[in-house]
Amino acid sequence: MSDCLFCKIAAGEIPSNKIYEDELCYAFYDIDPQAPVHFLVIPKAHIQSVSAIDEGNCAVVGHIFQVIAKLTKELGLESYRVVSNIGEQAGQSVLHLHFHVLSGRDMTWPPG
Ligand code: 5GP
Ligand code: ZN
Repeated sequence: MSDCLFCKIAAGEIPSNKIYEDELCYAFYDIDPQAPVHFLVIPKAHIQSVSAIDEGNCAVVGHIFQVIAKLTKELGLESYRVVSNIGEQAGQSVLHLHFHVLSGRDMTWPPG
């Protein structure tokens, strides 16, 4: 999508602190970290949120979780939280599917 911030980041049109990329997904550090380690993993294809996942596009989600498992191992993270906000009330501010990976501090439950 031409006017989507994360589509532009995944395409390299807007700079980011990249951790990893392959043909399907892109991982980069969050610009406003909420934990000592905070990065995002996004599909390169535009999907608005978890709500827009269907039979036709769901394979990338499994792939993203495989990438999260690989990257967290490489970064030496034994404990971490994966979060995806869906919709305004849940705090989604960028309308391109993304998984936050947060680590390096105690996490509270329930989340705020
Ligand atoms: P959401 O609020 O939609 O769950 O998460 C969006 C995340 O994207 C936020 O944590 C925010 O800090 C991050 N973000 C917004 N704009 C940029 C940007 O231009 N670069 C990077 N690296 N992160 C961004
Ligand atoms: Zn997008």
